[in-house]
Amino acid sequence: MPSVAEIQVQERLNEVQERIHVAADRAGRDAHAIRIVGITKSHPQEFVRAAHEAGIRLIGENRVEEALPKRANADDLADLEWHMVGHIQSRKARTVVQVFDAVHSVDRSKIADRLNREAGQAGTRLPIFLECNVSGEASKWGWPLTDEASWPEAAEEFTRICELPNLEVRGLMTMAPRVIEPERVRPVFQRLRALRDYLRQAVPGDWSELSMGMTEDYEIAVEEGATLLRIGRAIFGPRAIG
Ligand SMILES: *Cc1c(COP(=O)(O)O)cnc(C)c1O
Repeated sequence: MPSVAEIQVQERLNEVQERIHVAADRAGRDAHAIRIVGITKSHPQEFVRAAHEAGIRLIGENRVEEALPKRANADDLADLEWHMVGHIQSRKARTVVQVFDAVHSVDRSKIADRLNREAGQAGTRLPIFLECNVSGEASKWGWPLTDEASWPEAAEEFTRICELPNLEVRGLMTMAPRVIEPERVRPVFQRLRALRDYLRQAVPGDWSELSMGMTEDYEIAVEEGATLLRIGRAIFGPRAIG
């Protein structure tokens, strides 16, 4: 018998996937090129299993302390990939490398260097995304790259990060500001894509992935080129905290 969590997650995921398909059609995109990272933060362990049962293979968490036991308790689900999406303190870089398969929230050079060092020690190569603040909001993490004039300097910094031997840069990530009208985040997603297109010309590497779009705005993100959607509440329901 499926649990209540399993039934709810499957129903919600069906609706999200339907909406992704419709948005992809509107934009003339192939919906298969768009993957969901199910954000299970602050939801109990059973939601990880429910997500897997429903067909989700990428799980996102924003705190290493929470992800560590969740991953340990789901180690029989070997085809799950664990993605870090939250800000990382330098002293936690080692645990992050141990717990996660990919990091979306590389938001400064120093943490790239630390992750590179720890991945080297662990004998792995860590897929990462460079988190960029392209909304001009003061409170967000990431490289502040709202102004195009700042892009050439970032390209130099990113070139160096792309050369770190134990990291594998896959693309860019952004957090859109919380707004009442989702349509207002569209220019933010457009700017992240423009930045990616600029980097493609300026920095050798794989810039194929755009990690953008959450519960409130994932359909707009799809229309604007997202390849990874980080979706929590639309699939797992409201969170008590966080
Ligand atoms: C919580 C979180 C999400 C998911 O947010 P929802 O609004 O629940 O979809 C996505 N990305 C990051 C970085 C988050 O912290």
